[in-house]
Order: sequence, then structure tokens, then C-alpha cells
Amino acid sequence: MTSPVLPSHGRARPLGLAQVTLTGGFWGDRQAVNATATLAHCEAWMERLGWLANFDRVADGTTGPDRPGWSFSDSEVYKLLEALAWESARTGDPEAEAAIKRLTARVAHAQDPDGYLNTCFGHGDQPPRYSDLEMGHELYNTGHLLQAAVARLRTHGEDDLVRVARRAADHVCRTFGPGGLDGICGHPEIEVGLAEFGRALEDKRYVEQARLFLDRRGHGRLRDIPLGRAYFQDDVPIRQADVWRGHAVRALYLAAAAVDVAVERGDDELLRAVERQWEHSVARRTYITGGMGSRHQDEGFGEDWELPPDRAYCETCAGVASIMVSWRLHLATGDVRYTDLIERTLYNVIATSPSADGRAFFYANPLHQRVSGKPADPDEVSPRAEAGARAAWFDVSCCPTNVARTLASLHGYLATSDDDGLRIHQYAPCEIRAELPGGRPVSVDVETAYPESGTVRVRIAADADAPWTLTLRVPAWAAGATLTEGDRTRPAEPGLVSVRRAFRAGDEIVLDLPMEPRFTWPDPRIDAVRGCVAVERGPEVLCLESRDLPDPGGLDSLVVDPRAVPRAVPGGAVVRGRVLDLAGRAWPYPAGPVGAAPGEWFDVRLAPYHGWARRGPSSMRLFLPVSSDQPPPQGE
Ligand SMILES: [Zn+2]
Repeated sequence: MTSPVLPSHGRARPLGLAQVTLTGGFWGDRQAVNATATLAHCEAWMERLGWLANFDRVADGTTGPDRPGWSFSDSEVYKLLEALAWESARTGDPEAEAAIKRLTARVAHAQDPDGYLNTCFGHGDQPPRYSDLEMGHELYNTGHLLQAAVARLRTHGEDDLVRVARRAADHVCRTFGPGGLDGICGHPEIEVGLAEFGRALEDKRYVEQARLFLDRRGHGRLRDIPLGRAYFQDDVPIRQADVWRGHAVRALYLAAAAVDVAVERGDDELLRAVERQWEHSVARRTYITGGMGSRHQDEGFGEDWELPPDRAYCETCAGVASIMVSWRLHLATGDVRYTDLIERTLYNVIATSPSADGRAFFYANPLHQRVSGKPADPDEVSPRAEAGARAAWFDVSCCPTNVARTLASLHGYLATSDDDGLRIHQYAPCEIRAELPGGRPVSVDVETAYPESGTVRVRIAADADAPWTLTLRVPAWAAGATLTEGDRTRPAEPGLVSVRRAFRAGDEIVLDLPMEPRFTWPDPRIDAVRGCVAVERGPEVLCLESRDLPDPGGLDSLVVDPRAVPRAVPGGAVVRGRVLDLAGRAWPYPAGPVGAAPGEWFDVRLAPYHGWARRGPSSMRLFLPVSSDQPPPQGE
């Protein structure tokens, strides 16, 4: 089986990547751009910046402390290798295969005889190995190497990359195993890499080493830093923590590993701990986009309800990591709230990052851009995460390769199987050719223009000998959905809806999801957006760009009428709004509420947030202030 995550057991089983083919549509198009543009783009930048040559310099003995790139630049090569492995298997593209061989050869030459592999430490005048566990990222890099090797092992079998990874993993186990160095890496990742590598090789030693790293964390083994030990989750043991805190990507990679270890060891206490952390963090520390991370200072979670739209960090990598956690929790429990959050994050974080041509990316994904960004120079490295425009590459460039590996394996996240049938969680035009336990084949084609349209047509492609169950996810937002079999239509409540029978080729099940745009009201405890509404349509959150206003300067002083239901228009929605005349105010704190001095009401055009800034620089907001002379509707 080929899949990024293959637990030995669980309530849901992922389908193999070879069993699902995206045939176009929203995600198929993005996957194709990733294949034809993003992968080569990433390799070209890493060549240009010397991140690839770092491996050559270790091999020929010429490296030193002056090497280019941050201590984690090796991991970008490994994430690209992972993406290439999924891509090579998906399409058989000879260029992807050639790139794997070319990159693997350079990586392999840099490996020390004892298995240690890192271009930043331990060679020439560089700092000694493991001399900066807090910030050195050595084990983090190795974790990504192991994930790349898992992709290669499952799509191709043993090769040089897998052999390199095995030696590196054995080195880690020898160095940090029982009786060895009592340390952990400041950036979790080795844990999730070891756990999956152990599954792929059916070698429990690696899973056990992952467990050891997990349980060592949270006891203050890492040096205290100005951001505090919560930054790297070394403040509270993971079994005792109630919420995600600190650096968001670190917290989420750690949680993903904890689910893996919990499942492989039958450790229900650990699994419950991650579920508890997910619940609290999703209820109080997550943006409407699914984005996570409220603070730029530490790329981290804020306190409960600390969700400012303009200072939202919402790193693209945190979106990837959130999907990693939710997918693992779904496979373990079968609970659809996890696949609901995956959908939200896919459409509003993952889809937002890359440009249409796949050669520029958002790193941070704020919900409010007050000042138009400058167009990014496609030939320049962006020194900053926040820019207001997608950048070709970053000084810290973790996000592009993370998007690349996610899109290359995205078809693995659409559906699962269980003992009795097939469950489809994400709707995209695709062909599914799977096998149920006992070797019973199931074969369905999905036709849909989702999310532009809410009609999802599932056509059975082959006769079945015996009854099986087709289950479809009805998203939490989709109250009023219906399911049609033949000439019978019935309501489909949010959650799961199933049809069981001995299907015949040509049978059709049609799920209709209501796609009327809708207002969404933030919890009043989220102070930063109190008195505002958002508009969502299906799984997409909509936003307003200044370029869609008659006067772009009106973005700051626009208010909307909450009694006028948003109307659908091609490509988005319109709401009723007006721009308050607030000019000439010398002091922004008057004695009474601002309410008078209204402008004319007009139709305000909103479009999906994931497409913002594609037409050029713009200011943008997602939460829209409610007009104060119109009381907001009652209710929750
Ligand atoms: Zn990133």
C-alpha cells in the first residue's frame, strides 16, 4: 500500500494512492501545477542558494561554519524528495524519477560512515554534532529524511534513499536510545518520521525511539529561552497538556507523532490527550480559515480567544501540520469532525498559499491586510514571512516544499475504507478503484464541480457480488443537504450519510450540498473581531479586496447590513454595505459610538479568500464590521 500514513490499525483505513486518481477540478488542477511547476521551482532555488551544494561540500570535505542556509535547509531537500517520490508514483514522470536519483546521490555522499547526516554540524570547523539541540534542527532534518524515505519505500521499494535513511535512523537510535544522550530536538519532527519509518519497515525499534522522545519532552530538558520552553513544548508533558501552545508547527508535528505512537502501542491515554488538545485548540485557538498560530513573535499559538485577523500568522506549514494531526486522529477514531477541519484547512490555508502558476507562495496567511503588499520580485528571496504578496522563495523557506509534498499526495486524503465499505470525505472529481477487506473490489467515479457547485455525483463503475456501504461526509456547515438515489431524495444531516446495497455498474448516488453564501458570526470572546461578520460559501471563506470597492480606500470604514442575506454571484457573493465618512477625525476616540455620517448603500463583492492577491497587490479583509445602526440578529 502506498500512503503517507499507514497505521497498523484504526477505525478507518486510508486508501492507497494508487487507488485514487484526481481527474481535474479544483484540486486536480493544483496537483498538476505542483507537478509541472512547483517541484522544479523548489529544486532550482535550492541549487541557486547553495542548499544542495551543502551536501557536496560535506562530501568533498570543504564545508565549514560559513555554509549558506539556515540549520534546517537540509529538510527542504528532503521534503522535495518526498514530494518527488509521491509524484513519480502518481504519474510515472521520468523527470521526477531522474530528480530523485540526482538528489539522492548528492545526499548519500554527505552521510558519515556512522550514519550521521547533516550539513550544518560536525564537519570541519562547524559546531560539534548535537551541540545545539534547542535550535540546531539536526533531528528535525533527519525526521524529514525518514518521511521522504517512507514515500520512496512505499512507492518504489528499497533504494539508496531508503538505505541512507535506515543508516540515519539507526544512528539516531544508537545515539539517543536508552543509555545514550538524554536529549530531544527543539523542533519536533524526528518523532513522526521515526514512527512512520517504523511502520513502513515493520520495525518497532523506531516507533519505540519515537515514544522515548515524546515522553522525554515536557520536563525542561531544553535550555530555557526568552520565548519560554512552551515554544518547543518542553514545558508540560504531552500526556498532561490540555491545549496546543508555543510554536504552532512544532506543537502540531509533535501531536501527529503522538497519535502515531498511541495507535501503534495501543496507548489510549496518549490518544485521549491529543484528542483533548485538539478539541480545546480548535474551539478557542483556531481561525475561521482553519489557520493556526496567532503570534508572529514565536510563530505560535496565542491564548484562548487571541485571534487577531490582521496579526494572524497562520503559517502555511501549520496548515499542513494541522491536516497531518487531524488525518491521523480520523484514521484512529473515524470521527468526521477531523475531516471537516481538514476540508476547511485545505480550501482556506493550503489553497491560499501557492500562486496560480505554482512559483510563488504565502508563508503567513493573515485574515486582514491593511496595506497593499508590493509585487514580489520573482528573482528575489523574501526576507520576511509577512509580505502581502506571494513570494518566489523565502529566507526561511519551509512552506513551498510543504505545500509540494501535500499536493503531490493529496489524493490519499479523499477517502477511506472500513470493514463494510467506502467512505468519501473530500469531494473532487476522481476515480476510486479500491479493495475492501477480503479482496472485494469497489469501483466508483466522482463527478463534481465542487466547490463551485454543491452537487456531488458518485457513479458506481463496476457490479458488486455482495452488498457494501457507500458513506459520504456531510460537512458541519451543510444543513439542508440531500441525498438522491434513483428517484428517491432524502435529507442528509451533517455527519455521515450511507447507502448499502449490492451496487450495479451505473448506479448513481447524488449528494447535494447547499452552497448559498452565509453569514458566520464569531464567538464574542474573540475580541478582535467582535461586531464583525464573515461570509462563507460551502467550504470556502470569502473576503473583500480593496480593488473590488469603488474607492479602494473605503476598506477601513466599510460596514455591512447583517439583515440583508448574502447573495451568490459567479465567483463569490455580494453583501449590502456602505462606507462611513470618517474623514478629518483628529482623535479616534469620540465621546459616543460612531453611527451617523453614513454613505450610500451598495453591493459589496466578495470572493474566495484563497484567491486573494492573485490579481495584484490589494488590501483585504475577511471579517466585516456590522453597521451599528442595524442590531445584529439574536442567537448564538
Ligand atoms: Zn513554513
